[in-house]
Amino acid sequence: MKAASHNPVPTQANAPSFMSPAAHRHETILAEARPGASHGLAWDPIRASVDCWSLYSRLGDIWWTRAAGGPAIAAASRNRFDALVAFARARSPFYRDAYRGLPAGRLDPAALPVVTKRALMNRFDDWVTDPALDLAGVTAFLVDREHIGERYLGRYVIWKSSGSTGEAGIYVQDDDALETFDALMAVHLDPARFAAVHAWRIAARGGRAALIAATGDHFASIASWRRLTRNNPWIAARCFSIMDPLPQLVAELNAYRPAFVASYPTMLSLLAEERKAGRLEIDPVSLWSGGECLPAHMRVGIEAAFGCPVVNEYGASECMSMAFGCNEGWLHVNADWVLLEPVDDEFRPTPPGAPSRTVLLTNLANRVQPIIRYDLGDSVVVKPGPCACGSPLPAIEVEGRHDDVLAMAAPDGRIVRLLPLALTTVVEDAAPASRFQILQTAPDRLRLRLAARAPADRQAAWRALEKALRAFLDRQSLPNVRVSLDPGRPRTDRRSGKLREVIASRRDHA
Ligand SMILES: [Zn+2]
Repeated sequence: MKAASHNPVPTQANAPSFMSPAAHRHETILAEARPGASHGLAWDPIRASVDCWSLYSRLGDIWWTRAAGGPAIAAASRNRFDALVAFARARSPFYRDAYRGLPAGRLDPAALPVVTKRALMNRFDDWVTDPALDLAGVTAFLVDREHIGERYLGRYVIWKSSGSTGEAGIYVQDDDALETFDALMAVHLDPARFAAVHAWRIAARGGRAALIAATGDHFASIASWRRLTRNNPWIAARCFSIMDPLPQLVAELNAYRPAFVASYPTMLSLLAEERKAGRLEIDPVSLWSGGECLPAHMRVGIEAAFGCPVVNEYGASECMSMAFGCNEGWLHVNADWVLLEPVDDEFRPTPPGAPSRTVLLTNLANRVQPIIRYDLGDSVVVKPGPCACGSPLPAIEVEGRHDDVLAMAAPDGRIVRLLPLALTTVVEDAAPASRFQILQTAPDRLRLRLAARAPADRQAAWRALEKALRAFLDRQSLPNVRVSLDPGRPRTDRRSGKLREVIASRRDHA
């Protein structure tokens, strides 16, 4: 890692000119106030107060737009879309090329070509709109896991995704985007205007907040969490790793007694079981679910076990917060800041009520790395007609990946449940960019399918994976579980056409 390269103090001269006036002013004040200071883990009171002011103004904007109803939301979305497209054409060589031949001026979203992760990542340096960013620099920054959630170049937060397709993505967030997503979260947590921020902070201060996630690398959840807690050092917050054995996690949570717990729905479900069995003794006031789909039955089970509501967020590495769940069980799209277009195989709009083949995402908040009509891969159904909850935002249901929680038998006969995300994290860490599938074939047997590679590569990947999975299983008190390499390749689900990476015993082995 180039230690000095990602932490220069921003100055007026090197602050990117596309920053909002507020952000630009902020960076300048900061540089003057703290000459030579780095943006490491230290809390910066000036930055925090400007962030806070900026968050308040964004909260107000979101609140008033939504209070004005559907037409105001559509108008805000349209204006932001036009401005983003114009900006991307001016500053991103990738989009300039992609939109070459299209007329200048206002364009209908449907007139713009669809982009994919592979196409964008292949031209990363042309995709980003700040010439100070390049793939070599951000890759070097990401190699060092000490810096998760730290600012890069003093002004960006960066994370990566592994993705179910085996293609890694790297995502750069600017201040405007981060503030927008903070505000969206705050507006959702308490619709009573600005009180939202206070409610969250008081709850987090008085109680304690816990994030249970894949904490070992630069992933969106842990990077945003570290950023949030660094900006607000009075929040008592702790991260817990999904890689730890469940009994250990339960003991640690019992000792910590968090008032707010954020995790994946599969993890919250496991914790709900522990709560019902009397082993987990925490009484959170709120739970947050993200990163995976939360089916209605799972939400009901978790809420019943903990006696508190689950806030369900639909987000992605490409766009932190795309929608929030409502009491009616629908997800409401943050349509003033996010454009989601459900489409069929040929990218034609899917009518409400019908499942789409994929959904095209436009992130209206982030300009440093424009995401415009990006093929996200999720299948969604748009709710026909208004939602009974009264939200003016469009309602959707997401058909996401359905990886299974595995129930393995330990030598003493106990059942040890393995989180699919923990298993996929082990594999992705040991053999990056692999397309794979883990099958449970017996209570103490796992089989791994690896995508075809050159035989030597395949053997090398398998050796690394066998070692990593062995260590993980031993830590989970499963030294008896055997892992073998399947001669076949990963197979997509016949019905959905998607790749399920973790499949429990005797389901869809064909
Ligand atoms: Zn609703």
